Order: sequence, then C-alpha cells, then structure tokens
Amino acid sequence: MQINDKSEVKEYVPNSQCYDAMTYKRTGKSGILLPAISLGLWHNFGFVDNLQNAREVLRCAFDLGITHFDLANNYGPPYGSAEENFGTIYKKDFKNYRDELFIASKAGYDMWPGPYGNFGSRKYLIASIDQSLKRMGLDYVDIFYHHRPDPDTPLEETMGALADMVRQGKALYVGISNYQPEDTQKAAEILKRLNTPFILHQARYSMLDRWVEDGLLTTLEKNGVGCIAFSPLAQGILTDKYIHGIPEHSRATKAFSFLNTDAVNSNIEKVKALNAIAMNRNQKLSQMAIAWILRQPQVASVLVGASTTYQLRENGKALDNLNFTEEELKLIDKIVG
Ligand code: NDP
Repeated sequence: MQINDKSEVKEYVPNSQCYDAMTYKRTGKSGILLPAISLGLWHNFGFVDNLQNAREVLRCAFDLGITHFDLANNYGPPYGSAEENFGTIYKKDFKNYRDELFIASKAGYDMWPGPYGNFGSRKYLIASIDQSLKRMGLDYVDIFYHHRPDPDTPLEETMGALADMVRQGKALYVGISNYQPEDTQKAAEILKRLNTPFILHQARYSMLDRWVEDGLLTTLEKNGVGCIAFSPLAQGILTDKYIHGIPEHSRATKAFSFLNTDAVNSNIEKVKALNAIAMNRNQKLSQMAIAWILRQPQVASVLVGASTTYQLRENGKALDNLNFTEEELKLIDKIVG
C-alpha cells in the first residue's frame, strides 16, 4: 500500500515539546518508564483502514509524548497488516527516532494455518517474532509478549522461547498477556531463573471489567512487574459516543470487530450514570475512564485505541485531572459493581 503524494512532501517534524505534555511511569521494578497513555494498533491500522489516517494518528501520538506503540502479529485485518503498515510509516516518519520509541509485538493467537501458527510453542513464537521484525522493518522490538496462556504447552517451553528472544537480541524485554495470577506467578519464577527481564503484564482493565483487582495486581506487585491496561474504554463503550445510539462507522458497527451492539446496549444505563459523574468533574467520560485506571499504582500505562487524532488528543487530556474524591470512587463502585 502507498502513502499518498500529499504526505510525501510534508516531512514529519515532531513536536519539540512532546515530552513536557506527558507523564511517564515506571514499569514495575524495571528501568523502563512508559507514557501514562500508550497507543495500540489492534484496530484502525490494517489494510482495511486508511493508511493516511493511521499515519496522522501515529504522528499525533508521538507529538503528545506517547512513546509506546503496541502491536501483535495478527493485528489488521488481514493478519500482519497492522505491522506492515506500521513498518511503512515507521520508515518514513520514525526511523530517526527509534531510540525514543518503545515498540511491542506479541504472538499467541491464530496467525497462520497448520499446527505451528497458534498458541505457545517455541516453534510458533520464534518464527513469529522473526516475521514481525521483518514486517515492521525493525532489528528488535522493545518488548515481546506471549499473547495468551496456552493450557497445553509447558510454561517452561513458552517462557524459554521468550528468554531466547532476549538472548538473541530480538527483544529487549518480555511480557505476558491475559494470564491469570497463578500462571503469572509461575511465569515470573521461570523467567527469573532464566535471568530474563519480565517487566509487563498486558491485561484488560476498565470500569466495566475489573478482574485484575482480584489478585493479578498484587501478584504483579510482588514480582516487580508492571501492568499495562488494554481496552480501557471497553472498546469505546466508556465514551459519550453511544449515549444517543450507535453511530455509523463506530467499532460496534464493524463486521470484523469484537464489539457488538448488544454489549453496547446492555451497558448503556451504567454509561449514562458514569457520564454524569465525569461531567461533574469537568471531564469527558473517556478521560475519567483513563484517569480511574491510572489511580492504581501497579498500572504503568493505559493502552488506548483511537480511530482519529481528535480522539487521541481528547483522551490525552485525561492527565489534566487524575484525582478522585472518596465520594466519586464510591459512586463509581456502586454503578459498576
Ligand atoms: P479502547 O478501549 O481505548 O477502545 C478504542 C476505541 O474506542 C477507538 O478505536 C474508538 O473506536 C473509540 N474511542 C477511543 N477514544 C474515543 C473518544 N475519545 N471518543 C469516542 N470514541 C473513542 O481500546 P482498544 O480496545 O482499542 O484496545 C487498545 C489496545 O490494547 C489495542 O490496540 C491493542 O494494542 C491492545 N489490546 C490487547 C489485547 C490483548 O489480548 N493483549 C486485546 C485487545 C486490545 P471507534 O472506531 O468507534 O471510533
């Protein structure tokens, strides 16, 4: 896919003040600071999407001080296309800033046909990181995650593959995603034995999904590992966009998305009540949703998605008000349970 001519002539000059606008948080007990808000490329960056818009969102992110971009082998659609588009944009706009970026990829879900393109075998993970590096045009990723637990592959094999990626210089750090506390603990012990820097657990966390509060955050704290919270806006439900119905082109209307209108409709009364609290705080609901997650000390970063630069700028303003009164927190608890 080509980037259009208009953008070819406009060389990207990043905002020289970008680091002033962002807060950076330490990831567990590691040396890494992550922006309080990071950008994920699960949606809006595939071949089905507009490459020019994707480029503008990435430029906007970096201008806001968002130094962390999160990818995975199968983001698109089609699979691999988000990494390929990222690679195209990276080459034009970000190559000179490689050392200012923290780039993630993952493997663990369905990627290619046959027995070696899914789950957690060493065979799959090692082949996958090589493919990802090629698609993105990178020599290494900053962090590589096992994307989900595999109940049938020994944890030693999966963690051993992550450890070898670090030894081979293909990843600087490793992480896991969607692991329950018990397996997280076991993974941490194995990686410690292998002297492998395990710094992040990527977990779904929002006001509508609080499972991490039930043991995961304490397990991470115990092991000096940070949490990066994905789908903080519950894929857009925790914004004001669905309050008056389902807008055209929103994620809930898209055939290939994992958000359906039932999920939106079944939460809408909660969303309206939360929106009222946000308005009282002079915040948008999306901003309050992000601030609410950042109140957890173990959370190093909130990993948002954005289909426009407007959304990303709006979400970035969450950092203007991160404080909650006891009363606000109680009200939120009462609404979301
Ligand atoms: P969010 O919950 O932030 O949802 C993002 C979507 O919400 C946007 O694409 C947009 O959708 C809508 N939105 C965002 N901001 C606004 C706003 N201000 N006003 C109105 N609508 C808004 O996160 P995602 O679900 O996209 O997940 C974020 C990232 O987390 C992913 O890109 C990926 O990197 C990671 N992830 C990891 C997973 C894992 O298993 N490890 C699983 C899922 C995600 P719209 O198209 O409707 O405009």
